[in-house]
Amino acid sequence: MATIVEYDSRKEPLNAYPERIVSPFQPDSCCADHMMQVGKVEEERGFLYYYRRCRVCGFTIRYFLPVLPPEQHPQIQRQGSAHPQVQEVA
Ligand SMILES: [Zn+2]
Repeated sequence: MATIVEYDSRKEPLNAYPERIVSPFQPDSCCADHMMQVGKVEEERGFLYYYRRCRVCGFTIRYFLPVLPPEQHPQIQRQGSAHPQVQEVA
């Protein structure tokens, strides 16, 4: 399932959850203290997440709840190109 967040700094921030959310590209100094949950907790491939949106500037992220250690999700490990694993070949 794709994210409903559309990152576009040229548009006005918009909260039309659950259809779509328009968010600035970057968080601002206001975001740390003003992130609020939008909508309900959703599930994707065993991960629980919800949208968090800054009520000042509209910056939105998907916030994933900690569920299981990553090693218990092999389908996610395959996407870990940002964290290449060094393995010794026996
Ligand atoms: Zn903000």
